[in-house]
Amino acid sequence: MDAFTGTFTQQEPIPEEAIEAAVAVMRGGRLHRYNTEPGEIAPAAQLEEAFAAYQGAKYCLACASGGYALSVSLRAAGVEPGDKVLTNGFTLAPVPGAIAAVGAEPVLVEITRDLVIDLDDLARKIDASGARVLMLSHMRGHLADMEALCALCDDHGITLIEDCAHTMGAKWNGRPSGGFGLAGCFSTQTYKHINSGEGGLLTSDDPDFMARAIMMSGSYMLYERHRAAPAPETFATIRLETPNMSGRMDNLRAAILLPQLATLDANAARWNARYEAIAARLSRVNGLYMPYRPPEEFFVASSIQFLAPGMAPEACERFVARMKDMGVELKWFGAEDPVAFTSNHRSWHYMPAQDLPQTDATLATLFDMRLPLTFSVEDCAHIADLIATDREGT
Ligand SMILES: *Cc1c(COP(=O)(O)O)cnc(C)c1O
Repeated sequence: MDAFTGTFTQQEPIPEEAIEAAVAVMRGGRLHRYNTEPGEIAPAAQLEEAFAAYQGAKYCLACASGGYALSVSLRAAGVEPGDKVLTNGFTLAPVPGAIAAVGAEPVLVEITRDLVIDLDDLARKIDASGARVLMLSHMRGHLADMEALCALCDDHGITLIEDCAHTMGAKWNGRPSGGFGLAGCFSTQTYKHINSGEGGLLTSDDPDFMARAIMMSGSYMLYERHRAAPAPETFATIRLETPNMSGRMDNLRAAILLPQLATLDANAARWNARYEAIAARLSRVNGLYMPYRPPEEFFVASSIQFLAPGMAPEACERFVARMKDMGVELKWFGAEDPVAFTSNHRSWHYMPAQDLPQTDATLATLFDMRLPLTFSVEDCAHIADLIATDREGT
């Protein structure tokens, strides 16, 4: 079989409409979100309004990055230095990083082999840690049973903050991810579901929380220029009590993102068609396990994962190397030393080491692959054939 020649990190171009909007912002020179003419609504404020509507959320804040949205949401939720914050043992570095950024201590919860948080371990760690906040990472777009998770959080008085970096556009039982707890945190970094290079979006229905987040983001006393924001009265004392930790989004990025929101759902369908082409083939290969996707889960498959249970570390390494020779860029989460964008709790030395045998056993044979929309469905079938042929030949 011929090697694959596509580029796994090549996203689609920014839509022409978005390029024109960006050029218009540059021509105007008003790139700062509070640099508006009388009556003008800044693109940043327009984006917040549009994304709040998309999510069915009351409020939205556009900010500098997904990681910023995460750390600001912890601060605005009242997390203080020394507090413990629960999070998945399988996530990317910005999540434990956001917890560390506020001086809190991550308490890592096991994941299942279906790559979602283990609710039994979550219940145990809620009791054992005394943590009051769960920063749930929908890592690689896999959604836990959100009704069961929310019931558990409610029973124990746990505040839920969702990391939706991989679930923009995804839903559980028809309800958008990011809408289940106090806050949803999204990223608009190039490899996520809409692309402004860098950027983040934070949504919530809680007025005090959002007022604090807006003040923290660096709104000075200009919060009335926001549209998807709580009423000005909400800011009466918050505006004086909340430190400014600059992390605003600028109008240029917002202008690039606005037109992309309109095609997000259509793109989700395109991603999922690519996913299906690969999943259908790989699910028939002996020795590979595709994480279960429950019918309640509507996912957005900007990537795909599979496990090879029982495969030894050296065999995993050789498999990745053979696939690379065939042009297929697989990431392996079991490597001793994390590579590129992979991440493993054992390499987060700034926090107490934690024992996660079930997570480690899962990551030991977990493979991960990007599915950029620049690949056609046929490309994906080709990639699946290359992987399947390798596994069937061993
Ligand atoms: C990308 C990412 C983030 C953070 O997003 P940035 O915009 O890059 O700061 C958070 N969580 C996960 C799981 C991510 O992949």
